[in-house]
Amino acid sequence: MGTLVNIVVGSHVWVEDPALAWIDGQVTKINGEEVEIQNSDGKKVVAKLSKIYPKDMEAPAGGVDDMTKLSYLHEPGVLQNLKTRYELNEIYTYTGNILIAINPFQRLPHIYDAHMMQQYKGAPFGELSPHVFAVADVSYRAMINEGKSNSILVSGESGAGKTETTKMLMQYLAFLGGRAATEGRTVEQQVLESNPVLEAFGNAKTVRNNNSSRFGKFVEIQFDKHGRISGAAIRTYLLERSRVCQINDPERNYHCFYLLCAAPPEEIEKYKLANPKSFHYLNQSKCYELVGVNDAREYLATRRAMDIVGISKTEQEAIFRVIAAILHLGNIDFAKGKEIDSSIPKDDKAKFHLQMTAELLMCDPVALEDALCKRVMITPEEVIKRSLDPLSAAVSRDGLAKTIYSRLFDWLVDKINISIGQDPNSKSLIGVLDIYGFESFKHNSFEQFCINFTNEKLQQHFNQHVFKMEQEEYTKEEIDWSYIEFVDNQDVLDLIEKITELEVPEQVALKVMKPGGIIALLDEACMFPKSTHETFSNKLYQTFKNHKRFVKPKLSRTDFTISHYAGEVQYMSDQFLDKNKDYVVPEHQDLLGASKCSFVAGLFPPIPEETTKSSKFSSIGSRFKLQLQQLMETLNATEPHYIRCVKPNNLLKPAIFENINIMQQLRCGVSTLDLNGFIVLGFPRLGVLEAIRISCAGYPTRRPFFEFINRFGLLATEALEGNYDEKVACKKILEKKGLKGFQIGKTKVFLRAGQMAELDARRAEV
Ligand code: ATP
Ligand code: MG
Repeated sequence: MGTLVNIVVGSHVWVEDPALAWIDGQVTKINGEEVEIQNSDGKKVVAKLSKIYPKDMEAPAGGVDDMTKLSYLHEPGVLQNLKTRYELNEIYTYTGNILIAINPFQRLPHIYDAHMMQQYKGAPFGELSPHVFAVADVSYRAMINEGKSNSILVSGESGAGKTETTKMLMQYLAFLGGRAATEGRTVEQQVLESNPVLEAFGNAKTVRNNNSSRFGKFVEIQFDKHGRISGAAIRTYLLERSRVCQINDPERNYHCFYLLCAAPPEEIEKYKLANPKSFHYLNQSKCYELVGVNDAREYLATRRAMDIVGISKTEQEAIFRVIAAILHLGNIDFAKGKEIDSSIPKDDKAKFHLQMTAELLMCDPVALEDALCKRVMITPEEVIKRSLDPLSAAVSRDGLAKTIYSRLFDWLVDKINISIGQDPNSKSLIGVLDIYGFESFKHNSFEQFCINFTNEKLQQHFNQHVFKMEQEEYTKEEIDWSYIEFVDNQDVLDLIEKITELEVPEQVALKVMKPGGIIALLDEACMFPKSTHETFSNKLYQTFKNHKRFVKPKLSRTDFTISHYAGEVQYMSDQFLDKNKDYVVPEHQDLLGASKCSFVAGLFPPIPEETTKSSKFSSIGSRFKLQLQQLMETLNATEPHYIRCVKPNNLLKPAIFENINIMQQLRCGVSTLDLNGFIVLGFPRLGVLEAIRISCAGYPTRRPFFEFINRFGLLATEALEGNYDEKVACKKILEKKGLKGFQIGKTKVFLRAGQMAELDARRAEV
């Protein structure tokens, strides 16, 4: 960003501070490159001249609503501006076209009410205070006026406010594109009510967020030619499956389990439910209740939302019956059976839960016990039933629970989509993306790998949009743009998702396989029965030993490190193979496919004969990669808008603004302060700050000649006499007003940050 103003003794400056990120002070002495500063906290420090920044003493007391209006644009200035605004409950700030939203962790009065919506409707962007509604409004106007699809990408770490923001966007779009109140369910009502349903089944309390979405979501809202909502499609990504049977204190399982345990007495009786404390899948954590949430009320609210999205009462009954069955299933403990390495339900309690599970899933209890405790082995000679030891039986049980739950979740999403309906004639749409941010923990596994892969994809999209568009525009208009260095992350994406290619050298008739990326190698490992995570890791080490984004950690024999755009992340490979296999044991498939409940049987449709033979497993990694590809195609066909959510503190409390934490999120979209300790990510790149730098170093405002003349022609009417040349006229206007640093392209005027405002001010004087 660089220093803009000369620093002398007496200058007010910002200097780095280990606790506050930046602190202000006054220069007391300058000694070549060394500067002595008296900080506002009373301490005296010495810093390098190149590391300090001038403080804008004339900055407005309430901050500025767009970072590009800051006179001195640098990290401390940006941070100070956000802090000033946050203290005044101004949680939204623009940086050019990006909206920064800092989670207030409290309901701010009136900022989302009907009156507010009315105000933002049709208001020119930037005229009112920054707001999610303003972003939704420009998207909607752009769609109506240009007939082009738009998308709003909401990013940020867990607890930053993505889902809340998404809901607000949807509410506003429903307000703009809704029909006058009619009887019955409207499309927009259904779209809105899909949120509580998906949250009940896909959200859970985690350490980082009491209502954390454990899946990614892209909602595509379709509009008809009158700009009315005519359909919607919801796509979800990678629900966290492991949570169904494994949770750590103080987290919780998915909300729906606790809601059901708080259901009215007749349901509790019907499903033989009890206190959540009595279920293994819930009592691994001591947390059962959420502050401020009444599970009994939420249960009824979820039921109502299910009514609205079109899930019938019978279906609802089946859904909660399946949820109850999963709770009972988790309580089936196993003990050693009579034969070696066999297992049986441990005691009467386990037998009761087995009975209950079978009843609720409407399947045969003996078949259920067999499916949990035995495996069928097919050899060329015969079919044998092999017993599982108690440990393997428990693994089998948990596998079944995860499969049922994830199929139930997919069913819900499909059902909601069918019920809302798609508009085949829809001209344009607005997509809203609420997807997990970059993650780096002490221990990272396959889930983090997929999540970070997603973020690399989105980052590339962001890069391409902000940077490539910028460059292309400059090239097209033949103006200078040498200052932009484009950092592409294609190399990381290749490392992850490149496909295995068949290479046929010209002279030799030999076919050589060029190795693919990590996902391709993982799939290969999963298909080869003798693979272990060790052989998989070794293959990675060999293949990528010279890849500059891949590192083999010194102290591990199976971990691997990827140098992501946001920093390095070390992954533990030990569960990669298992987690990549979306494999339903045939015994489980047969058991539930034969359920007398059509809902349950419907979750386990028969698998076509060919697929069972050709590929033994379906790869979660590859399927996810495909989903992302499709998402990117959709996004690429839209005009994107970005909202960056920021989490001001890890205590999830209002009015606490943690400088360092926030700074790091602005740098690379993720806080580097992990809850397990301090894990510092290197190479902050291409975060909000970088985007500000780029667009401010460049020409954030550009106007076609004729538009510019329409707006500012009155500033130099003499330039418009007779048969004037537009380009020359634009130049004359700008020169007359003494502006510097602008550029004139082939068809457009390119203005530096703030110049538009300056011209507008002059116009007002005329
Ligand atoms: P995750 O990635 O874990 O799903 P997220 O980014 O979706 O996290 P949210 O669930 O949207 O985070 O927000 C976390 C909590 O912060 C909310 O439950 C709510 O209490 C609070 N919150 C977020 N945004 C707002 C807001 N605009 N006004 C009031 N409270 C908010
Ligand atoms: Mg969320």
